[in-house]
Order: sequence, then structure tokens, then C-alpha cells
Amino acid sequence: MELEELYQEIIIDHAKHPRHSGSLEGADASASLLNPLCGDEVEVFLKVDGGRVAELRFEGHGCSISQASASMMTELCQGKSFEELHEFFKLFLAMMKNEESGEKLEVLGDAKCLEGVKKFSARIKCATLGWEALEQCLKKLEESSR
Ligand code: ZN
Repeated sequence: MELEELYQEIIIDHAKHPRHSGSLEGADASASLLNPLCGDEVEVFLKVDGGRVAELRFEGHGCSISQASASMMTELCQGKSFEELHEFFKLFLAMMKNEESGEKLEVLGDAKCLEGVKKFSARIKCATLGWEALEQCLKKLEESSR
């Protein structure tokens, strides 16, 4: 199997069987984002414990890329520190802008399978939607703790 085909399979699997989907009672922060270009919607719910993710979930609808990407993001970020989340977010965006590639992307787990999306500029927003919602959650938490 070609690597690209394998990546396709992983994306389809996440889209069909999203990990950590559903809303989260008593979330410490949530953020909802729309991608009007494609009709995608992703809402991210975050519960924190001592500067780390205690639980992360998402709810949404839209194209396979948007939902698979949110699923990959929630899987990757469980239990991680805020610092790590910012790093993942930056790296994911850099991947989409073609500023990072190769082995450095391994830390993104399944989300590195979305690298091919960078060739389709109209779909990049689909891939980044869930990640931007997570980043908004972190901003809200950081602002409220100030
Ligand atoms: Zn989309």
C-alpha cells in the first residue's frame, strides 16, 4: 500500500469513527468555529487539571477532513500540557503552510496524515478548524486566569 493510500485510510477512519466526540459537561472552556467556505462546524470542549488537559472533546459536522482533523487533534492532546498544545498547534499550522515537513511531523501522530491537504488551498481551513477552536479555548483560559 502506498503511503498516501494508508494516510487516506486513516483519515476516513477518523471521519467515520471520530474519537472523543460529544459535548462535555462542566467544561472549563469551549469554543465553536465555522468554516463558511465548506459548511464545517467544530465545537471543542476542554477540561483542565493543573495546567494539563484532563479531557478534550469535540462536536461538529461537515466534510471528512474537518471532522477527521478534529478527531486526530483530540486524540493527540489528551493529558498534554498547555505548552505542548501550543507547540502542536504551531506545528500543525506550519505543516499546512508547507513550512515544516518530514520527521518533525511525527509528533503530530495521526494528524500528520493530513499533510497532503496543503496542496488544496481551499481545504486548509477544513483541516485547521478544530485546532483553531482548541487554541481559542486556551486563550480564554489564559485570559480568565490573569
Ligand atoms: Zn470542509
